[in-house]
Amino acid sequence: RDKDDDGLLPVLPPDITRNAFNNAIAELKKSLGEPNVVLTDKPLVDGWYLEHPNTHDAFHVHSREDTISSATVYPGSTEEVQTIVKWANKHLIPIYPISMGRNLGYGGAAPRVRGSVVMDLGKRMNKILKIDGDNCSCLLEPGVTYFALYEAVQKSGYPLWIDTTDVGGGSVLGNALDRGVGYTPYGDHFGNHCGMEVVLPTGDIVRLGMGALPGKDNTDNPTWQSFQYGYGPYSDGIFTQSNYGIVTKMGFWLMPATEHLTFAITFAREDDFERIIDIIRPLSAQRVLGNVPQIRHVTQELAVTGIRKKDIYAGDGPVPEQVIREHMKATIYGDVTWIFYATVYGPKDSRNTSIDVVRKAFSVIPDAKFIFPDDVPPDHYLHARVAIASGVPMLTDLDWLHWKSNGSHLAFSPISPVDGKDARKLYEMVQKRHGEFGFDMMPAFCIAPREMHFIDIICYDRGDEDEKRRAIKCIRAMIADAAKEGYGEYRTHILLSDQVAATYNWNNAALMRLNETLKDALDPNGILAPGKAGIWPKRFREKGWEI
Ligand code: ADP
Repeated sequence: RDKDDDGLLPVLPPDITRNAFNNAIAELKKSLGEPNVVLTDKPLVDGWYLEHPNTHDAFHVHSREDTISSATVYPGSTEEVQTIVKWANKHLIPIYPISMGRNLGYGGAAPRVRGSVVMDLGKRMNKILKIDGDNCSCLLEPGVTYFALYEAVQKSGYPLWIDTTDVGGGSVLGNALDRGVGYTPYGDHFGNHCGMEVVLPTGDIVRLGMGALPGKDNTDNPTWQSFQYGYGPYSDGIFTQSNYGIVTKMGFWLMPATEHLTFAITFAREDDFERIIDIIRPLSAQRVLGNVPQIRHVTQELAVTGIRKKDIYAGDGPVPEQVIREHMKATIYGDVTWIFYATVYGPKDSRNTSIDVVRKAFSVIPDAKFIFPDDVPPDHYLHARVAIASGVPMLTDLDWLHWKSNGSHLAFSPISPVDGKDARKLYEMVQKRHGEFGFDMMPAFCIAPREMHFIDIICYDRGDEDEKRRAIKCIRAMIADAAKEGYGEYRTHILLSDQVAATYNWNNAALMRLNETLKDALDPNGILAPGKAGIWPKRFREKGWEI
């Protein structure tokens, strides 16, 4: 970054002079108030999960300064969001909306285009607008975290559950827009949303679903959080993983509370892996297992106990599996390769029936071992899975980041059929690349009835430039390997979105042509999150931005 006598100067948005930028910022401060526009003119601090930066990617994979904002703006209302959008159109300054900006592993709060103005909606627009106990639903602003929603639902006294991701500090709305997942039966976050309010890139506001029909005396429609589709084309989906609008309100369904039992099944023989996946498929499809269960690799399991790589292995490259297993022997799970976390829901009788079905299904694997919460001490990781499977937000899953100094992660997340052969193929593909680039294996398969989200974690030291270079090379190689075999990512880091988008290229990239047509129609000046999801507005297209 440039400097003057007072210190660091903000990075400029593309094609904007320092003078034009300063004038534009002065104008924005006048509309929103001085404290609500903050320049990025200080040294960058990565912080940690609960004190994360909104100036750059805390888990940087290139230089920390690479995906840096020029300023952050804090709107306090939908009208102020409109004001900012109109300002951006006037000055041709790209803006990048975030809700909490804790999207770690996928870019955090960082804009795709260096020098964009980050619009942090979470700080001032963080109200829970409604919890409806009869309708089992809520209406939220962008800054509502899983922790905040959980507390409010508890306080309301309604017997309802929320659904949370592995770590509970993210925005409920932001995660649903990135199509994230959780671990109760309502784990498909976008699938369980109902109704949105969106500010379009030209500044107009639209309400989707039943919200488009005003209620009596111009009130919010009473079925806005009840019926997802409304009338006409169902547009909600185009505002997820895209850059077509800024979501200022979003409704969600809440699950009526029930009883549940979460348990682990451990497996000792690597050779059983395919069979295990094939056994889980019908259990998931028949909803014997009522959520999306996950099977995790032993290394991630060891890492979540707080053990650090350097404490158990001095060599370069991945820790040999025998070393991992030796250390696992000292834990309650013992000598294992895979650990499956599953949950059955409902009253005791039906849970017992479900457990019997699960036991019978796994009886063909001789050393499958069932471990229940009562079998482990209160601080065991299994209790975090118990909490998350009933929508109680936690932070425990941050613990495996201690595996490395300055622990950071990138997630390679392809979708696969629920089939042991596919699971094996993906696992070996990833194992080969992790070996080549020197990273430990930490994969998990989240097994829905008809597909698996394979979540492969590259845990790296962001203080080590060489390690960062290898991490990017590794994930880029895996994206290419996977695409050749027909596997595509469900979500990716902002800097990898061009590569991933280019793999969805059926019929001469018809999907991207459609996306670009929509982008140019909705955002003619190309001001909203250029490059997000690989979608570049006309003004930026084919000018060297795609990477
Ligand atoms: P979280 O803190 O839940 O992980 P973020 O706030 O980082 O989520 O949001 C994830 C991504 O979703 C962001 O990078 C941004 O591109 C997009 N996003 C978040 N909030 C909004 C919003 N209100 N409107 C449009 N896009 C959003």
